[in-house]
Amino acid sequence: MRRDDPQTLIIDADDTLWENNVYFEQAWDEFLVFLSHSKLTAEETRSIFDEIEIANIKVNGYGAKNFARNMVECYRHLVERDIAQGDVEKIMGFADRIFHQPIEMMEGVEETLAYLLERNHDLILFTKGHPEEQRLKIDRSPVGQFFREFEIVREKDVAAYRELVSRFRLQPEITWMIGNSPKSDINPALEAGLNAVFVPHERTWSLENTQLRGAGPGKLHIVENFADLSKFF
Ligand SMILES: [Mg+2]
Repeated sequence: MRRDDPQTLIIDADDTLWENNVYFEQAWDEFLVFLSHSKLTAEETRSIFDEIEIANIKVNGYGAKNFARNMVECYRHLVERDIAQGDVEKIMGFADRIFHQPIEMMEGVEETLAYLLERNHDLILFTKGHPEEQRLKIDRSPVGQFFREFEIVREKDVAAYRELVSRFRLQPEITWMIGNSPKSDINPALEAGLNAVFVPHERTWSLENTQLRGAGPGKLHIVENFADLSKFF
């Protein structure tokens, strides 16, 4: 089962190496209480917010700052009282806490990365989002020593994977994308002809949690947690 030849392992960061979405969920919960809508349920409010996010992500991209702006837009759209002075700052403050969270590594990540490196696999970190926000998280985490390259892109779509393959001259048959998001990690990597390992995370952002598709010639493994990668590599 375990591959002895060195493989190229492209590894996602948010909610694969470290906790991320849970902090966005906490900010959202605070927002819901603050908005305190008289008729809309939490789910209805969220689906209105999701529409705002989907539209704005195309223009502004991802990240906590954009998330904060989207909550402000949602607030202006839904609030049933006069907007008071300080309301916007208060909402920005909910999201601001996301920046100040200490990086919480997922269980077994550091030991597993050290093991993978020892087995001579080539490790590339591949994350999407706001370049500065992502760079800060990488710098504050202990993963710097393990990866050969750190790639931050605006969107992890099929084109982004093809671009990565061509820039680093990767061989698709021995290249694997490893991550928690069907939408950004698994499906586009398979479609670009790579192999993939899905590492599910129960708090994955709903907009990332699409169906796993098996398109392409590559293999797909599903593991329970990051440490299980040692069964395959
Ligand atoms: Mg992720």
